[in-house]
Amino acid sequence: MTEATGIVGEFLSLKEGTDADLLAMQCGDFYEFFAEDAEIVADELDLKVSQKSSHGSSYPMAGVPVDDLTPYVSALVERGYRVAIADQHETEDGHAREITRVVTPGTHLETGDESAQYLAAVVREAGRDGGDTYGIAATDVTTGQFQVTQLDDADAGEALTELYTFAPAEILPGPELRNDDEFLNRLRERTDAALTLHDSASFEPGRASHTVREQFGGEAVDSVGVGEQGVALRAAGAVLSYVEDTGVGTLAAVTRLQAYGERDHVDLDATTQRNLELTETMQGDSSGSLFDTIDHTVTAAGGRLLQRWLQRPRRNRAELERRQSCVAALSEAAMARERVRETLSDAYDLERLAARATSGSADARDLRAVRETLSLLGRVADAVTETERLAESPLADALAGADREAADTLAAELDSALVADPPGTVRQGGLFKRGYDDDLDEIIGEHEAALEWLETLPDREKERTGITHLSVDRNKTDGYYIQVGKSETDTVPEEYRHVKTLKNSKRYTTPELDEKERDVLRLEERRHDMEYERFQALRERVAERATLLQDVGRTLAELDAVASLAVHAVENDWTRPAVVEGNELSIEAGRHPVVEQTTEFVPNDLYMGDDRQFLIVTGPNMSGKSTYMRQAALITLLAQAGSFVPARSATVGTVDGIFTRVGALDELAQGRSTFMVEMQELSNILHSATEESLVILDEVGRGTATFDGISIAWAATEYIVNAIQSKTLFATHYHELTALGEELPTVENVHVAVDGEPRSAGSDGDVTFLRTVRDGPTDRSYGVHVADLAGVPEPVVDRSQEVLDRLRDDKAIEIRGSEGDDGGTTQAVFDLESGQFRGGNAGSAGAQVATDGNPEHATGESEAESATDEAAASLDPETEAVLSELTELDVNETPPVELMAKVQEWQAELDEE
Ligand code: ADP
Ligand code: MG
Repeated sequence: MTEATGIVGEFLSLKEGTDADLLAMQCGDFYEFFAEDAEIVADELDLKVSQKSSHGSSYPMAGVPVDDLTPYVSALVERGYRVAIADQHETEDGHAREITRVVTPGTHLETGDESAQYLAAVVREAGRDGGDTYGIAATDVTTGQFQVTQLDDADAGEALTELYTFAPAEILPGPELRNDDEFLNRLRERTDAALTLHDSASFEPGRASHTVREQFGGEAVDSVGVGEQGVALRAAGAVLSYVEDTGVGTLAAVTRLQAYGERDHVDLDATTQRNLELTETMQGDSSGSLFDTIDHTVTAAGGRLLQRWLQRPRRNRAELERRQSCVAALSEAAMARERVRETLSDAYDLERLAARATSGSADARDLRAVRETLSLLGRVADAVTETERLAESPLADALAGADREAADTLAAELDSALVADPPGTVRQGGLFKRGYDDDLDEIIGEHEAALEWLETLPDREKERTGITHLSVDRNKTDGYYIQVGKSETDTVPEEYRHVKTLKNSKRYTTPELDEKERDVLRLEERRHDMEYERFQALRERVAERATLLQDVGRTLAELDAVASLAVHAVENDWTRPAVVEGNELSIEAGRHPVVEQTTEFVPNDLYMGDDRQFLIVTGPNMSGKSTYMRQAALITLLAQAGSFVPARSATVGTVDGIFTRVGALDELAQGRSTFMVEMQELSNILHSATEESLVILDEVGRGTATFDGISIAWAATEYIVNAIQSKTLFATHYHELTALGEELPTVENVHVAVDGEPRSAGSDGDVTFLRTVRDGPTDRSYGVHVADLAGVPEPVVDRSQEVLDRLRDDKAIEIRGSEGDDGGTTQAVFDLESGQFRGGNAGSAGAQVATDGNPEHATGESEAESATDEAAASLDPETEAVLSELTELDVNETPPVELMAKVQEWQAELDEE
């Protein structure tokens, strides 16, 4: 292939100079993608690919019109691509192109998504005493949020947990993490974030510190205590440098450095966020999540904040009580609450508008929106001060935190400047009110007078010439013209100069019209330029007040979030929990916040405390064990988000982390887990949980063979009770574990109560699960009932029940012949100890497959075997091979992972037929 030259060559060499994934290069009225990029883009966005030939070679090409670039780039970025944009500008000899910005998932300003969009950097250093120190910085360029933290003596798991709480769109791993494949793999597995290897030099302590000081000022850096050479500073410097490099231009909106301590919030790892369905369900829908259920916010910023509260619950009791007091006040003052929410519903997204102003992308409508929203501050403040219940609550302080006077001043300035309904473009005038600026007024005056002259020209001409079909108009090619109907073209005055003939009319100009046209065009251009200039200055002034916008935005968002919590509390009869230090978790008549929305929920109680730290939860399948435990976790989480909780009353000792693991079986059913993952997660919990944590283990150990499972569950329980001492709820179907409840002092058994006895053959035996939880272990397995619930055919369910009853009562079971045969019944004795059939006249398991109806086949061992052979003889060799392997395999001796692999292998073999 020949070296590409011309436009493709230019594209390829620009591409070479960027590490973006894709390049969009402006070529006149289009942005074009070439070569491989064209194919990727065409594929992702359903664009047409054409061929561009360049000096003998041909290259794929795909393009989008200049005005449509933004949505296309957004779509690409949302799919995880980093897109470089090369703009074209005029030069003395033609035009030149250069990359002006790179749009990436973490710096994407035009996101259509209302939720937060974090760019994060993570750095690791070896700590003094063996453990590692991690620094993490995260910013949301759409709102100017910037947060940093340092984790001392931490492991990779803790650092990842910290990162997950931001749900970053893009992550910049520090130089020392780039070769740590395990770390990177875990990142890839658990987040959708794009991983970007940003310039290592920007992570260097000296350079990073300088960047951070430039941005926030030295004092701010010192006062938040992230340390001169700290790892957090390195992460922060890298983030700032990356934002700068992408050219997105929002650094000015990033005004405040927030450092948060490790001990201030509750650890929630990615698995727990998913298990508890905080922002999306296990199926990946946002509808049906906890956030979706409790979200009644009326603004985008309020929604973001509420979501953040759920994803980053706090430990600071003063802050939690402050939020609770706001919720309490708002839930009692119904009228004022509705007034506040009604007012807030007119608010625009101030934090994002601030970022748009500072990046220079805000238009006049955006500034108008800033004005509308700033002016709401006064209105909600009035609603609060005029209502006694609210005025004496912490809401009043929260509102006092925003500078109402400054907000009013800026709002007034914007109002005096911009017309009420400005156009969507800022280069064509029509933005400013009269009286805002004298020079502008003069131009506008002249321009409008000239327009007025043109508008009234037809009437004057009609009168002067007596022509009736006469109009004045303007188009691109002819400029202004006088148009006269065909029937009257003979009578036009002689100064009319003909320019064009149409089917029914002719067009003319006059010297006077030509002159006015020049005037209008000149005035128009001057007016557009002057308005644009004034507009830029105005936007600049708004950008300078970015901090004010952010403050007011946050105040309104917080008001929206607490009002939303109040609405939910009132509508669902939630209660204010007592948030305390220590180990207690008592819930009286508690409910699951999401399940209660769709089900007649049976409330239940929970008590945990110093003497009851570990509860073993047993009960039939489908009786509500998982729900009960998640409910405990969610009530704790809601309490530490500052919310009320679904219960009659509750006391919640604050926790430092919530850890959950749902047994592989539930997850396997959804095809998302393996026993290996289950064990990794259990291991992570055993490493990370502390005595102040809440641990939820749901059927852990179930993804493996019975004996393995029991052993693991048993050992994990002992370890948690003896070594970790965290508050723990453990649901298990291994009744053996309940023995622990009797032996270990802080371990207690609870079970989900069942109303009535399980069905037995003969009675109609319907079981109603009560779903109330009582002390003591349950004593039975209800698998048959669940089979029934699941719609297993009636005869099978009935027969299963008979088998189960016989096994329990007589430890024996008869083997029946095939249908229509009443003679084929053989007795076999089941040994409960070994779980095997033994002795009797049906001595082997082989006898049970002899179901051809011939009693002889099941009467003696040798004959039974020959029957098996006979049946096998009719099978194809593959199936036979699988069967024999299956028979020989010892389930209790085979590692679970191997078992799964085996099953897969068999399935594949059987499939091949
Ligand atoms: P288990 O873990 O014991 O198998 P689950 O917790 O999965 O049972 O609950 C089974 C079903 O019962 C779910 O559909 C759940 O919504 C419902 N459920 C659980 N607890 C209650 C309750 N207290 N009141 C009403 N329905 C409940
Ligand atoms: Mg369950």
